[in-house]
Amino acid sequence: MTNFHEAEHIQMLRETLLRFIEKEMPLDLVRKWDRDNHFPREVHAKLAALGLMGLTVPEEYGGGGRDVRATIMAIELLCGRSMAVGGPYIQSACYAGLNLAEVGSERQKAELLPRVVEEGMIFAYGISEPDVGADVASVRTTGRVEGDRLIVNGSKRFCSGATIASYIYTLVRTGPREDRHRNLTLVLIPSDADGITFEAQDALGLKGTGTYDVTFADVSVPLANVVGEEAGFNNAWTMLVGPGLDIEKMEVAAMALGIASAAVEEAWAYAQERVQFGKPISAFQSVRHMLAEARTKLHACRAVTYQAADALDRAEDASLETSMAKLFVCQTAQEIVLACQQVLGAYGYIKEFDMERHVRDILVMPILGGSSAIQKNNICNMLKLRK
Ligand SMILES: Cc1cc2nc3c(=O)[nH]c(=O)nc-3n(C[C@H](O)[C@H](O)[C@H](O)COP(=O)(O)OP(=O)(O)OC[C@H]3O[C@@H](n4cnc5c(N)ncnc54)[C@H](O)[C@@H]3O)c2cc1C
Repeated sequence: MTNFHEAEHIQMLRETLLRFIEKEMPLDLVRKWDRDNHFPREVHAKLAALGLMGLTVPEEYGGGGRDVRATIMAIELLCGRSMAVGGPYIQSACYAGLNLAEVGSERQKAELLPRVVEEGMIFAYGISEPDVGADVASVRTTGRVEGDRLIVNGSKRFCSGATIASYIYTLVRTGPREDRHRNLTLVLIPSDADGITFEAQDALGLKGTGTYDVTFADVSVPLANVVGEEAGFNNAWTMLVGPGLDIEKMEVAAMALGIASAAVEEAWAYAQERVQFGKPISAFQSVRHMLAEARTKLHACRAVTYQAADALDRAEDASLETSMAKLFVCQTAQEIVLACQQVLGAYGYIKEFDMERHVRDILVMPILGGSSAIQKNNICNMLKLRK
């Protein structure tokens, strides 16, 4: 199958990564990580040693220079095998690497980006709250300045990977609520700071990192931890809706693409092995057609994802394409996985088969990173559809 004019360095990286996956992420371990909700830190460290976290980091800080297409390909391959490795990869390369490179202060970049590249340092996103979902600007967690410290109070919800992260990239309100887009600040809160408590939430999928309720009770951090330092204070909204948001949409699309790819491969192989009525079920037209449709949809998802990634690499304004990609790929990938599950019949519904994990993981993709409804709103607004 075509990889849509992949540059030679990305092809080489793809081959290296496929060998890494075979060696370091065998399916018996992948199943165990999922079952035990376990983060394999040693595999994450080996990914860093391979230089994979540097795909988002400028050369002057030890990375290879920002390469969205390569990052997307890495997310696709890793998440196609295991969310317990793919999720934390995103939290390192993107949540930490991309964000710091984009909006960190010079000092923060110099101090933290080499740690992303070398150690695979992980950030968790502390954006959502019990009463804050899509309406991010309504955030209630507060940050109060006291001397050279910021005192944080409030709670975050669905903070994925909070306990494996070095820092929680936390959105706080640092002024009156009336000016809801202005008085927002992003702050790096060490996950072992005094006053933080974690309570695990029991999610259906995305096992490995876990997702948490996080409570901040008078958590005190230096003002130097404000993302972007002085320039970042009360300025988080522009940081959140900037180019980083476009890449975030693509991260979720790439996850969905990887999961759908794995589901298609599993269903394709299964259909040729499973015999009923004296024939492999791949001989029955209904199964053949399901598989043909799944492959075609997957091809379309890949084209849309790579096209938007290439636009970002050319530094074009790709807000529209990335919203379309997020919407189309996540919804279509879900259709693909559910169709592939049907190909496996009853075996697609039991834990002994990987399909069951793919189904659990794919269901959240249209919700994360701006839901399908929010992307539809964005697309209409960007194209100025009359209200
Ligand atoms: C497994 C998992 C991991 C997550 N990880 C993180 C994380 O690490 N950090 C983090 O901060 N958050 C995380 N989230 C939260 C996720 O980003 C939110 O679920 C998402 O922002 C949507 O918020 P909500 O679920 O509260 O939905 P709501 O905003 O309450 O929306 C509910 C429904 O209403 C629709 N809706 C809302 N507003 C509109 C509108 N204006 N127009 C049309 N429809 C609308 C939505 O599309 C949705 O269908 C995670 C969630 C899950 C399930």
